[in-house]
Amino acid sequence: MNSMPLFEWNKCRHEPLVVAGPCSVESRAQLVEVTGALCALPQVRLIRCGVWKPRSRPGGFEGLGEQALRWMAETKASAADDKRPRYACEVATPEHVEAVLRHGIDAVWIGARTTANPFMVQELAEALRGTGMSVMVKNAPSPDVRLWMGAIERCLKAGLDDVAAVHRGFDLFHNASFRNLPLWEVPIELRRSMPGLPILCDPSHIAGSREPLPSLSQMAMDLGFDGLMVETHPRPDEALTDADQQLTPAQLSGLISGLLLRQTDTEKADQELRLLRLQIDQADQELLRLLAVRLDVVRQIAEVKSQSNWAVFQPKRWEALLSNRLEAARGLGLCDDFVKELFEKIHAESVRVQEAMMEEKKSAGAQ
Ligand code: PEP
Ligand code: MN
Repeated sequence: MNSMPLFEWNKCRHEPLVVAGPCSVESRAQLVEVTGALCALPQVRLIRCGVWKPRSRPGGFEGLGEQALRWMAETKASAADDKRPRYACEVATPEHVEAVLRHGIDAVWIGARTTANPFMVQELAEALRGTGMSVMVKNAPSPDVRLWMGAIERCLKAGLDDVAAVHRGFDLFHNASFRNLPLWEVPIELRRSMPGLPILCDPSHIAGSREPLPSLSQMAMDLGFDGLMVETHPRPDEALTDADQQLTPAQLSGLISGLLLRQTDTEKADQELRLLRLQIDQADQELLRLLAVRLDVVRQIAEVKSQSNWAVFQPKRWEALLSNRLEAARGLGLCDDFVKELFEKIHAESVRVQEAMMEEKKSAGAQ
């Protein structure tokens, strides 16, 4: 594995930087086994090892702490110079930083829950000042790009110059298919605001399961991410934490070789188009969701109209609505004819739905 500074070094390469390793170090044997397997994969530049685990609720496996750091230091010391593994750990307190420094750990990351707390990030940045450590900053669980940027800025201001961001998805309640929603527009905004900053994607914590990992990783590559952080365990099903999402080293190797990498300058335009189309897709989804919300209100209005014996089509309301929407649309730079036609269609659909409801009520009443 090559020498630091890792993220700077990777910038001039045309391949993703892969950080892989177990969610948690669980035993010396597991650490040695996974290290050996990952050192055999040339794309893996750094082995991630969870040593202090931020569990949402107390009582679960919370990591082996300094014991694991000692095994990591020993594993490094016993390797030949050119095969020496480089390790990264999550740090959440200045004491953790002191411990990783004592044991010669090469890099650290700030976890999602810590990024959410600017006081703690500031303390970590101070503890890391002058150490020359490579630092990865995961996004906070909420989709607030400023909080993420703020944590990165605190590290940069402390003089750390090998810093990368890690996108691990966002913890939202309406989250069905993923453990954490990717909300790609957030790292895209980070890239726009901090263009020189390397961004890695952590598909493992986004997915929460194995199956989506290749497509999430490919998406990250297509969007121009600089690398991946993938949880890897010799026997994922036996893992003490995050068993569902970890890959074996062989599965990781398959994932990496299956990635389609875009390398030429001419494909930059294609990449930009993908970013823009992603934004169009998200805007359209929002449009559809709002249309459904609107129709739901339209149905509630039909109930009120039917109870008070009002006609469905109320010309005065329609005229007022249209002129209000046209004025608002002008303020947004939208063309009158387009907005008029759009609202005529939306209104016609509302009238159709309300009339159908009235008709149904009428025939139910007649029976
Ligand atoms: C982890 O990387 O094991 C971890 C706890 O991740 P996150 O901070 O993204 O939840
Ligand atoms: Mn994990």
